[in-house]
This record gives sequence, structure tokens and C-alpha cells, in this order.
Amino acid sequence: MHSRDMSTNTFLLEPISAADAEHHRVRGGTVHIADSHPGYPCRRCLEDAPVGEELILVSHDPFDHATPYRSASPIFLHRASCDPPEDLATFPVQLTRRRLSVRAFDDAALMTDAAVVDGEDLGAVVDDFLSDGAVTRIHVHNADRGCWAVTITRPPDS
Ligand SMILES: [Zn+2]
Repeated sequence: MHSRDMSTNTFLLEPISAADAEHHRVRGGTVHIADSHPGYPCRRCLEDAPVGEELILVSHDPFDHATPYRSASPIFLHRASCDPPEDLATFPVQLTRRRLSVRAFDDAALMTDAAVVDGEDLGAVVDDFLSDGAVTRIHVHNADRGCWAVTITRPPDS
């Protein structure tokens, strides 16, 4: 299911947290039943829901800093609890098969760089952005509908 092998762990995927996902599930959102695949990407497990599964569509703000860039965007979540992928150092197909807007931020959550790329090129742009030592996090959004997809950080030991 993964389309890119990483020989070194240069980044860490950070899906929506368990606490934030639970918050959205308790508060609720519009309920959708996946009627096609792919098309309903859950931002907790980073999988496209199989046809028939229930999701909620909610507004999620991935920032934890006050910053001019702070904004919420629409995301799907499985309606029932789900777990993040075990491997957080490999891009899931949910990302690699979509056109993505990739935005790099520094420690003050100010944008340092941005690009729109085909998902298969995500690794190259992440490597490029992380080569700037000032970059502490990268936000990935779907380029077409704007949904936040995942945050990418540096591994703790890097
Ligand atoms: Zn899920």
C-alpha cells in the first residue's frame, strides 16, 4: 500500500491527534458514507475509506500557534475510532495519489516555502523543504479542495 521506500527516517508523519479526532467525533459533523474509492480520505488512519464506511466531515485547524497563516480546513474522519498508521516514516497512498499543496513553516509558524506537486513528488519536496534548518513543520493539503491532509515534522533524533 505504500509507494515510496525510505532508507532513512528523515521525516515523521503527524496525523490528527487522538484527542483532536475524538473531540471532532464527539462534537460531530456532517455524516458521509463512502460511495466511491478513493474519495474519502480519513486524516487519522491516513487511509481512503472503503465503500460503505461512515465518515464525518469537520473543520480542523492544524496549527497550535497564533500565526497569520492559522486557518481551519475541511477534513474527513472515520466516524468510529481508528488508529494512525504504524509506519509514520512512509507516505501512504492516500497522499501519493493526489495533487498536493505543501507548505513549510518555521518555529514561529511563519511560512518559509510552498509548492503544489503531484503526490508522487512529495518526498522530493519534503526533503528540499527540510534541508532548510529553520523549517520545523510542513503542512500538506489536497491541492484541489484544500483539505488539510497531514503535518510532517522532523524525527525527534534528527
Ligand atoms: Zn480512519
